[in-house]
Amino acid sequence: MSEAVAKRVVPFGYPIIEDEEKKAVLAVLSGPILVHGPKAKEFEVAFTGFTRGGYATSISSCTAGLHLAYFYKEIASGDEVIVPAQTHTATVHAVEYVGAKPIFIDAEKETGNIDINQIEKAITSRTKAISIVHFLGMPVDMDSINALAKKYNLFVVEDCALAIGTYFKGVHAGLLGDLGAFSFYPVKHITTAEGGMLLSKHQAVTEKIERQKAFGVDRHVSERKIPGEYDVNMLGFNYRMNEIEAVLGIEQLKRVPLFLKKRRENYDALEEGLRSMSEIELLQSTYGDYQSSYYCLSVILNDRLTQKRVEIINSLKSKGIGTSIYYPKPVPHLSYYREKYGYKLDQFPNAARISYRSIALPVGPHLDVEDMNYIVEEFKQTIMEV
Ligand SMILES: *Cc1c(COP(=O)(O)O)cnc(C)c1O
Repeated sequence: MSEAVAKRVVPFGYPIIEDEEKKAVLAVLSGPILVHGPKAKEFEVAFTGFTRGGYATSISSCTAGLHLAYFYKEIASGDEVIVPAQTHTATVHAVEYVGAKPIFIDAEKETGNIDINQIEKAITSRTKAISIVHFLGMPVDMDSINALAKKYNLFVVEDCALAIGTYFKGVHAGLLGDLGAFSFYPVKHITTAEGGMLLSKHQAVTEKIERQKAFGVDRHVSERKIPGEYDVNMLGFNYRMNEIEAVLGIEQLKRVPLFLKKRRENYDALEEGLRSMSEIELLQSTYGDYQSSYYCLSVILNDRLTQKRVEIINSLKSKGIGTSIYYPKPVPHLSYYREKYGYKLDQFPNAARISYRSIALPVGPHLDVEDMNYIVEEFKQTIMEV
């Protein structure tokens, strides 16, 4: 028997790579400069044009950027970093890379962002930094975070992996704390295949990290009078972005205004269609001074539907609708962290509620409002059937 063909195909994420991107990549491949070239610089300048300020340095991934953040600040064994329990594992792995201890804080129920009210009592004399994530693109209240940081002299790291187009009081994410790391992994807002950007309002931070991402070499290739003439005066990594990724980024960045507009339209349509359903709850999106980047729309299921989550996901899949879970487990529930620090599965209940009860629906710019109407229809149908 042949499988029923879905009426529509609505993938969760799909990179939009057009002729401009392809031409730009081929042009790089036709020349001699694959790394250390002008395109990475050009991408950095264009990026700060979009964010309207700050100092940017391109990196090989968001994870590399987060590692560099703690390395730069010389956070190490014996130090503690406040982290959200509800996030991608990379947010916390970066703290582990430098040997520091992550101190997890549960999510707030309304947005999934770190519960700011629980931070102060977790701060000790060993706390050196606060890491926040703009969850699904919804900005964290950075006034409160910065007030705590000032009071306790803490470094503020923003995980901006889903935060291109995220603004708090009109200021772009990454310029709110001391430094922000962005991701250009394929399912994020824009892609360079792998890649990322580090953004800071402090010039000195970016300048030093620019050396640290390239072995700690004291001068850029373009600054060497004689080829090969350089010194290394600090430890560093190989966390650079190459020229192929950089030209992808330059072309993708031109599309960001349109991408964000489509995300917002899609999100609004999807939210409108789902809002009145009694068996689900939605996380709070944009309000007042909080401008989301609309990464996806997470639906929180009631008890009955939570029992049927796998069935719902499979049914939507058979109807051509791709879904995801952001994020599948609170980080302290992942084996590595649970075993290392002895966390219990009943800890971090708000983060757990999102992980174990939600389904993330797509709103990306590869989709349009008709796709959203299709999702609403099929979602309603599916939950009546299960
Ligand atoms: C995707 C993601 C990352 C990892 O980004 P990479 O560029 O793949 O390293 C980090 N943090 C969050 C919140 C993410 O969603």
